[in-house]
Amino acid sequence: MSDDTIFHKIIRREIPADIVFEDEHLIAFRDIAPQAPVHVLFVPKTQIATLNDVQAGQAEIVGKLAIAAAGYAKQQGFAEDGYRIVMNCNAHGGQTVFQIHLHLLAGAPLGRFGTTF
Ligand code: AMP
Repeated sequence: MSDDTIFHKIIRREIPADIVFEDEHLIAFRDIAPQAPVHVLFVPKTQIATLNDVQAGQAEIVGKLAIAAAGYAKQQGFAEDGYRIVMNCNAHGGQTVFQIHLHLLAGAPLGRFGTTF
């Protein structure tokens, strides 16, 4: 268990971030290396390293990330055009920060989902 990831430092305001939304459960800020015109990360304040570590009683935490992302899309006016949400898990998923987070990608047609392997 580590609450010392870069995202925990952002939650504690120890390093800066472009925060677009925050409530008692989660924080959302712009990705430092955007992969789309809109690329926002939604991060719970509860420490959970990977999706594998989410317990049955924590389903609400993951649900809140998705609902917050959809709410942000509606508020920003691109919900009807559409967007993509992604959660990476561990090495094969490409996870690099070990505090669960949901990527919201939007602002242009994103093409077919997929990658080379
Ligand atoms: P993942 O690869 O799914 O673990 O996603 C981690 C994301 O965090 C990447 O898209 C990074 O660009 C992003 N990231 C890393 N450090 C920062 C930071 N200081 N502020 C904002 N985003 C960051």
